[in-house]
Amino acid sequence: MATGWGSLLQDEQQLEELARQAVDRALAEGVLLRTSQEPISSEVVSYAPFTLFPSLVPSALLEQAYAVQMDFNLLVDAVSQNAAFLEQTLSSTIKRDNFTAHLFDIHKQILKEGIAQTVFLGLNRSDYMFQRNADGSAALKQIEINTISASFGGLASRTPAVHRHVLNVLGKTKEAAKILSNNPSKGLAMGIAKAWELYGSANARVLLIAQEKERNIFDQRAIENELLARNIHVIRRKFEDVSEKGSLDQDRRLFMDDQEVAVVYFRDGYMPSHYSLQNWGARLLLERSCAVKCPDIATQLAGTKKVQQELSRSGMLEVLLPGQPEAVARLRATFAGLYSLDMGEEGDQAITEAIAAPSCFVLKPQREGGGNNLYGEEMVQALERLKDSEERASYILMEKIEPEPFGNCLLRPGSPARVVQCISELGIFGVYVRQGKTLVMNKHVGHLLRTKAIEHADGGVAAGVAVLDNPYPV
Ligand code: ADP
Ligand code: MG
Repeated sequence: MATGWGSLLQDEQQLEELARQAVDRALAEGVLLRTSQEPISSEVVSYAPFTLFPSLVPSALLEQAYAVQMDFNLLVDAVSQNAAFLEQTLSSTIKRDNFTAHLFDIHKQILKEGIAQTVFLGLNRSDYMFQRNADGSAALKQIEINTISASFGGLASRTPAVHRHVLNVLGKTKEAAKILSNNPSKGLAMGIAKAWELYGSANARVLLIAQEKERNIFDQRAIENELLARNIHVIRRKFEDVSEKGSLDQDRRLFMDDQEVAVVYFRDGYMPSHYSLQNWGARLLLERSCAVKCPDIATQLAGTKKVQQELSRSGMLEVLLPGQPEAVARLRATFAGLYSLDMGEEGDQAITEAIAAPSCFVLKPQREGGGNNLYGEEMVQALERLKDSEERASYILMEKIEPEPFGNCLLRPGSPARVVQCISELGIFGVYVRQGKTLVMNKHVGHLLRTKAIEHADGGVAAGVAVLDNPYPV
């Protein structure tokens, strides 16, 4: 795999000038974040961190990631409808993980009461790294799938112009033209619009559940703007607002401030810290309603790391996607090694192997949002501590993916431009809509490339580790 922009990275003076131009273009394009000092206000904003150059990605892997996205949509949707699979898969985890247990309680309660929702909307992002093979080639390996609050579709629509600008400044017009256009926010909005339309109430709103301190608001606004262009109105509210002003009528239609809600789009609610007791109550109210939740609680559970690990068991995909051997083969080709830590021989063996070869594994709890996984010596210590406790079932072990590092220059507000050794993570956005048992939409709608310095094992853009990037197909 060719790895980079070679001599361009050595000319420090040129890099500085290029960086200045790139930052101005990023600001002009709206590649923006609120600042960490003022996360509740848009008065002062800055650019979202990004790479100076697009990073080289083999076209075959990009195509493979796009080609498997509809299969992942089908798989997530199938898991979300399979209550027995979810119950069995999560049974040991929920004994030891309060957050997953709380989500699961709501799921059970909804099943008992009967699901009022008839239209289902999935907006997800499947993330991959490029495993370096012994022969120097690279293989696409899934890191995880995000079924709630998958972000950066909005900003990813705006970064291609920035990288084209950089290459055009260098007179590399042919190279600039190779940067793929990308508009995930449009596709995500299309899914929301379809769900809204099928809900079938002309004056109903889309309710976006947001946090007050939201640095990534412009990413969300990109989707809101697309919806407004289709004459669909979005109201942004917090869980606390739902507790105060949300209600259900006798048909379990959801109302917020007396406005009917067709679709609830969560950009919050994926971490324990997002929930007070009151917020859990609000989540339950939303789930009980017939509004289209994106995601509904079962689909959120389908995105847990424990589910990911169980899906990799031999024969499991065949059970969940019967009669679809080609989809099963495409999906399985992207799976890395995944190991259960449930009590028993299988878990014991995985722990022994990970302790013996810590650099080959990652220990993952059931958490989202970056910065929760354990690597190396920290992982070994955790495994030693957990080994004889049932608490270990709230984690999974995963094979550590080792991509080939390459040089790129990372740009962040307040830091000098730095050329460092990097690795990338590719995400593909997927959208599906189901009405009753009929799938009415199943698409891929764009990509996100994030790149980080190799010294960081974990963490995404929001966690301050990775930066936005574009694939340069080779
Ligand atoms: P989260 O839900 O917190 O985003 P992830 O599973 O995506 O959890 O892990 C966070 C980050 O850790 C990823 O973005 C990636 O950089 C790194 N990571 C996760 N799994 C692996 C793995 N198997 N091999 C190498 N790096 C990994
Ligand atoms: Mg992730």
